[in-house]
Amino acid sequence: MGRLAGKKALVTGASRGIGAAIAKGFAAEGADVAISYFRSPMAAEETAAAIRAFGVRGEAIQADAGDGEAVKRAVAYACDALGGLDILVNNAGIFERRLLQDASDEAFDRVMAVNLRGAFIAIKAALPHLPEGGRIINMSSTFGARVPATGIGLYAISKFAVAGMTRAFARDLAALGITVNAIQPGPIATDMNPDDARHARIMTMMTALGRYGAPEDVANAAIFLAGRDSAYITGTILNVDGGFES
Ligand code: NAD
Repeated sequence: MGRLAGKKALVTGASRGIGAAIAKGFAAEGADVAISYFRSPMAAEETAAAIRAFGVRGEAIQADAGDGEAVKRAVAYACDALGGLDILVNNAGIFERRLLQDASDEAFDRVMAVNLRGAFIAIKAALPHLPEGGRIINMSSTFGARVPATGIGLYAISKFAVAGMTRAFARDLAALGITVNAIQPGPIATDMNPDDARHARIMTMMTALGRYGAPEDVANAAIFLAGRDSAYITGTILNVDGGFES
């Protein structure tokens, strides 16, 4: 029996990268999984097929995390298609590299809409469906706790807020028996942060382990936080960062 056997999960922004690894990791542990995606129907369908290959339900739903109504529709569709919801992972995220003094109001709004507001709306939409024992996992970042470089400000602001929102929801939802935690990844090799990019050498040097992580490293933490073994953990921001700046 898998650690998530019989559970139903929605992972946002999971056509590739960390989200896809979490979705497949959940499926490998026996969960039915719906994923949302923004622009890549083929990649999303591939992930959904990989989920189904574990003998569970796999659904792909197009929904811009920056569009509140689309987020609500995606949650409703996932609950309907899977027959309920036990686990919500707010993974969808975008990274904008520019100095804050050069950032437009529109760029600010878009980053906050996708990285923060979309997660807030997904949580609110999921709540009527989540049972006691339900799990919410938000994706913050090591840049949600520190700002060690120029030009990462918009992203950092959004991820600090995701960490704060996690603690606040953990308090407010505790009475419902729902835990809310965040994962704070360090450098993880994905399209967003390729381990052969120009900045990768510095990022690598900032980790204690001296290497990038894999999306599966984050998925393993998500499986733990989604499962029964994390029942007494809420409001936690879990580093999966190879000892970044430790
Ligand atoms: P990625 O760019 O490889 O994948 C991002 C995923 O989010 C994709 O599936 C994409 O379709 C989806 N997405 C993007 N914009 C969306 C939108 N508007 N609506 C719906 N989905 C959208 O990135 P990743 O590295 O896999 O990042 C996943 C999460 O992990 C993000 O929240 C990111 O901020 C966070 N993170 C990544 C790293 C890293 O080093 N890779 C580090 C810390 C945190």
